[in-house]
Amino acid sequence: MNHQKSSELFAKAKDVIPGGVNSPVRAFKSVGLDPLFIERAQGSKIFDADGNSYIDYVGSWGPMIMGHCHPKIVEAIQKAAASGASFGAPTAREIELAEMVSQAYPNIEKVRMVSSGTEATMSAIRLARGFTGRDKILKFDGCYHGHADSLLVKAGSGAATFGVPTSLGVPADFAKYTLTAAYNDLEETRKMVADNKGEIACIILEPVAGNMGCVAPRPGFLEGLRELCTAEGILLVIDEVMTGFRVAYGGAQERFGVRGDLVCLGKIIGGGLPVGAFGGRRDIMDCLSPEGGVYQAGTLSGNPLAMSAGIAALQLLREEGFYELIEQKSSYLAAGLVDAAGSAPFKTCLQRVGGMFCTYFTEGPVYSFADAAKSDTAAFSRFFALMLDQGINLAPSQFEAGFMSSAHSQEDLDRTIEAAAKAFKAL
Ligand SMILES: *Cc1c(COP(=O)(O)O)cnc(C)c1O
Repeated sequence: MNHQKSSELFAKAKDVIPGGVNSPVRAFKSVGLDPLFIERAQGSKIFDADGNSYIDYVGSWGPMIMGHCHPKIVEAIQKAAASGASFGAPTAREIELAEMVSQAYPNIEKVRMVSSGTEATMSAIRLARGFTGRDKILKFDGCYHGHADSLLVKAGSGAATFGVPTSLGVPADFAKYTLTAAYNDLEETRKMVADNKGEIACIILEPVAGNMGCVAPRPGFLEGLRELCTAEGILLVIDEVMTGFRVAYGGAQERFGVRGDLVCLGKIIGGGLPVGAFGGRRDIMDCLSPEGGVYQAGTLSGNPLAMSAGIAALQLLREEGFYELIEQKSSYLAAGLVDAAGSAPFKTCLQRVGGMFCTYFTEGPVYSFADAAKSDTAAFSRFFALMLDQGINLAPSQFEAGFMSSAHSQEDLDRTIEAAAKAFKAL
């Protein structure tokens, strides 16, 4: 496959954009290739600058669950654009989307719109701190919650309980308020809470961890966290930026029956436009400015284009049978990929929750980041390149989930399985 134009664009981009990209994972660095520059997309396919087409399982990293350029969403955006791109004043559309979100997530009594998932988690944490009057937060190793300072923190080595920054520019003094535990490890979490009694404002987690592949919560993990938080006056912040409207219309909370005090949303609720949201219990949300003393704001928050796209997206997802369709397509693809992997010269492990999935290049099962880190990333990179060359666009990293959309056809799925069988054999 010829990627000459993409490579030329990448060379140019590197001149004026750091690393040539506006978000690091797009650079294909972890698979050692030049990124594709995309010209357009339609349904299940994306088309690059060289005119190649690919069956797309990235879906803009999650939002495009109804496929690219769904006519209803295109129409909603066009209509909204014609009546004004932004007013900096409230609109009826914000109420409409807020009501739809609140109906889907009964624990979201009030919700505030922002412009990205990062803003949602950052604001939820400030709110949790303001509400509880506590400074520390607890997160899990391998969970990604956007790039706010206090969330770019990993577990320190050995017995260290205080986090260390994973990025330059994050003061150690900030990071020390972020505790980290291993995902799915309730015992370790309980111990940390006991060691920091009365000091933790919130526990934040991805209810299905999709930023280290696809790791489901083990039975009892979410329930245990819920109990622990309630007992200790800690707010449970469930980051459903990826899983919300993805693993069920009501997200992982509906699927697993555990509810957070605060919930973060993003990706799908914008229908492909830049959106985030955070919401939860009324008494907590009322601590936000202008009602309360926790400041939070945004020039483009509740943007009319984004609200319109979000409303149109949720209307599509509410249609009868949408999630059954996603489940059916995903389980068919997963079964095919497992079969195909049988011809690989080593063991792999496919993990899936609804329309998100990951083939780990390790035996598995993967319950935590430490498990995921055992993957043979060099083999994944070769697999990725072999798939791309056959017109299959997977996320360019072992530690990302693949996403199914309703636009993927039976032919797409069969072509993907065939390509995977060839790729596994060629490894
Ligand atoms: C993508 C993601 C974010 C960050 O959202 P952005 O819109 O990229 O800022 C936060 N949390 C989770 C779980 C995500 O998957």
